[in-house]
Parts: sequence; structure tokens; C-alpha cells
Amino acid sequence: MKRETGKSVYKGIAIGKISLHKSGEQTVKRVHITDVEGEKERFYAAKAKACEQLQALYDKALAEVGEANAAIFEVHQMMLDDLDYLESITHMIENQEINAEYAVATTGENFSQMFAAMDDDYMKERAADVKDVSERVIKVLSGRGDGMLTSEEPVIIVADDLAPSETIQLDKSKVLAFVTKFGSTNSHTAILARMMNIPALIGVNYEDDWDGRMAVVDGFEGSIYVDPTEEVLKEKEEIRREEIRKRELLQTLKGQKNITLDGKEINIYANIGNLSDVGAVLQNDAGGIGLFRSEFLYLEKNDYPTEDEQFQVYKTVAENMAGKKVIIRTLDIGADKQVDYFNMEHEENPAMGYRAIRICLDRKEIFKTQLRALYRASMFGNISIMFPMIISVEEVLEIKKILTQVKAELTASEIPFKDVEIGIMIETPAAVMISDLLAKEVDFFSVGTNDLTQYTLAIDRQNPKLDHLYQPDHPAIMRMLKMIVDNGHAGGCWVGICGELAANLSLTEEFLKMGYDELSVSPTFVLPLRQKVRESRITPEE
Ligand code: PEP
Ligand code: MG
Repeated sequence: MKRETGKSVYKGIAIGKISLHKSGEQTVKRVHITDVEGEKERFYAAKAKACEQLQALYDKALAEVGEANAAIFEVHQMMLDDLDYLESITHMIENQEINAEYAVATTGENFSQMFAAMDDDYMKERAADVKDVSERVIKVLSGRGDGMLTSEEPVIIVADDLAPSETIQLDKSKVLAFVTKFGSTNSHTAILARMMNIPALIGVNYEDDWDGRMAVVDGFEGSIYVDPTEEVLKEKEEIRREEIRKRELLQTLKGQKNITLDGKEINIYANIGNLSDVGAVLQNDAGGIGLFRSEFLYLEKNDYPTEDEQFQVYKTVAENMAGKKVIIRTLDIGADKQVDYFNMEHEENPAMGYRAIRICLDRKEIFKTQLRALYRASMFGNISIMFPMIISVEEVLEIKKILTQVKAELTASEIPFKDVEIGIMIETPAAVMISDLLAKEVDFFSVGTNDLTQYTLAIDRQNPKLDHLYQPDHPAIMRMLKMIVDNGHAGGCWVGICGELAANLSLTEEFLKMGYDELSVSPTFVLPLRQKVRESRITPEE
């Protein structure tokens, strides 16, 4: 048995034979031609055929994985219509009297290198796309079909990398997993693999003699076992059976409403920490993202993420959610989430110290950078902004003043944005007690029961010795929850819960009775919670 590890981009277990897919790159010969006009016509006909294929792929992706993920095939079509790209090809045919295949291959290579050299991450990723689209045209020109990966029996596909067009046109019933040497977590291929619900690993060093051999892909631990032992097979089979059971539950509840037996409907959203969690949100059919903990963007880096870096992440999340609500919480650093480059002084009591909105209102340049990124991204979906650790109306008024400044600056620079919903986390007892006043200032509340429990019960949520006393459903918290929702509604806000307590199924009926509008939980809890809601009745039977 041989075990290789990589990075998992989608969880799951796959057991089957390996199909080694050698890179789709083709060697294209340079051939001298005499009929220049005829060659250009041949190119344009191939380009039209490639566009047709891309349209078919777009339609397929749209039906299977949604508009945001299908968009890549529109981008490919646009690339084929790009004037610089077309001119480069036709000029080469005319001036060098060469075959269309060679002109397309050379242009594709040149454009790809140009994109790869750009600073912008988004543009860098387009390098693979321009190559992909050029290879498609070459395949049409050389009469080699559309490059579909085919296999009679379901297989684990192992490759250097897979172009998005290759992954989407696969017959899903024939693919058990993707294992690639290259590719990034945020590439379209990785996103599509997650959407297809197939375990996928990147960064795996495979060997050429793996083709046709039996293997197990474990997307939970990020490994592939080639020629697994009986013991490994048995262990992984067990995990897979459990997975299948969960997926079956998932299938029956997907697309269903979150509605009680007596007709009360509630929104079930999901909490995420970064971009790579979005696949799980969609897989589990959450109605939106109720909490995007944006501080993870800062925690992952060695320096402050720039406005552009943040913008790209927020934009991608919004696009992937295709119009569903995406609530992004501004930086909640401090306490348990320390970042070296913030150079914060040592504190005796960090949970009650310099953290979250307190830092943002003090170091306004950091706050404004994030807000600009958020407003810019608002054009690409349905973003709402939420502020953590609020204790006073004054803080909210100050935030609103800063929002006005940021929006005025964007307008002055002619940068488009939407006037998004704003909300606050209710996670301090102070915020609970003045929730009637706070409700007049914002559009929504989301209760952070993790911190609210810590501050209400005076129990450090990080202290393992006090675990047995950390009781998020303490009667004090339950009374607060009722007060928050009543005050929120009276002030015109919608009200949700995004702390861990929202996933406590023994309290779901209670939350529904209280009148909560939304519960936001880890993606894997969305469907069990939906099931619970659908089995609940909140008014007594007649
Ligand atoms: C909370 O406090 O309940 C919450 C959702 O925020 P975090 O856990 O990130 O502090
Ligand atoms: Mg909190």
C-alpha cells in the first residue's frame, strides 16, 4: 500500500480504480499555408463551434451548479470574442502564412503568460482559462472532438490539473473523486468539484504507474491510499456508509421549505470562516450566509489584507451565493483571535479588552479599508454588513457616520456600490438591555450566544475548567433571547441567532415560538435543523 497526502478541497470517501489523466496539452505543428483567407475561415468556423460547445457547457453547469459557477463558461466565450485575441490569431495567419492551430496555440500561450505575470490574483487565474479555451479551438480544428474525459466504470481521476471545462462535462456517475497535483483551493475547478459533491484533493504527487490501480481517497484527512490493505478498506468503507446515510438525508430535504407543521416559516442560514466553506453552504442548501467571520482573512495572513484582496473574497462569496443573503461581520479580532501584525499590547483580560469594534473604531484606517471592500463587493450579490461586540447606541452612531464617509468617498471616486442592510451582533448583556434603542438604528440583529453566554454568566468561554458551568441555555440567556426578539421586532428589525446555540435542536421549537426570523448554523447542521423545523408544531393542536 502507498499513501500520499495533499490538501482536501472537498470532503468524502471514494473507493475505486484510478484513471490517470495526462495533461490535455497538445503538440501543435507549425505548417506553412498558401490559402490565407481559407485558413482564417477555418479558424472562424472552429471558433463558432467552440462557442457552441461552451454555450452547451454553460447550460449544463447552470442547471447543475447554478449561475455563479456556470459563469466561467461565459468568460470563456468572451475570451473567444476578445478583439486582441482574435487579431493576434488572424495577423499571425496572414503575416506568417501559418496554420490556424499554430496561431491559436501561440496566441493562447502568449496571453496565458501575460495573465500569469499580472499582480491581481483574479487575472492570474485567467491564465489557465485562456489556455483552456485555446486548446478547445485547437481540438475542433484538428477534429479531435471536445476533449471529454470518458470512462466505462466509475473512477478516481488523477491528473496534473483539470480545466473547468473538463470537470463540468464529466458524467458525474462515472467519477468518484478528483486528485490533482496542481490547482488551488479557490480555482474554479476546485469550486466546481465541491459543487459536484465529489471528494477532491490537490497538491498530490502521483506516480505514472498508478493508472488502473485500486485506491481509496479520504477527503477528510486529505489522503489517497493506492492498493489499500484490507484493514484500511474496511475502515474507510465504514466512514463512507455513514456519509451515504447523511447524504440520503440531505437529498430528501434539499429544496424543501423550513416550515413547521402549523405553517411558521424560518430562514436557515449557514456560518462560514472563509471562501472554501461556500461549497458546503450550497451543498447543504442553506438559504444564505448568516455569519461570515471575516477575521479569518486577517488570521491567515502575515500582514493586513489589502482592500483588493478582501474585495475579491467578498465578491466571490456573493457571486457564489447567487443573490442569496450574505451577512459579513466586520473584523472581530482580539480575545482568543490574536494576530501578530496588529502589535497589540498584552492584556490581563483580553476577552473584556481591546477587541472587535473597539479596535475598528480606534484604528479607523483598518475599518475603512474593510468597509470599502465590502461596499465594492455589494454590487455582485446580496451583501449585508454586521458589527460585533456592540455595547452602546453611541458606537452604532459612530459606525453609521463612518459608513456615510466611506460611501461619500466611493461616490466621489465614481465607484458603484449598493446601500446594503446593516445589522449588529447582540452578544453583550449591555446590548440586550438597550436592544429597544439599538433596534431603531439598524436593520437587523443577530444574537451571538457564544459571547453572550460568556459575558452573562461571567465564564471565560476558553477556560476548560469552567466547561461544566458554560450553559448557553441558562434561563438568564433564554429570557434575554425573548427580550431581544421582542425589542428587535418592535423597532422594525428582523432578528436571528448565529451563535452555536442556534443548532441546539432541543431548543428549536422554543426559538420558533419566541418569533425568531433566522437561525444560522454550521453548514452541516442546516439539513438536520430543517428536519427539526418541519417536525415542529408551535401552536397547541386543536
Ligand atoms: C458568538 O459570539 O456567538 C459569535 C457567533 O461570534 P464568535 O463565536 O465568532 O465570537
Ligand atoms: Mg462573538
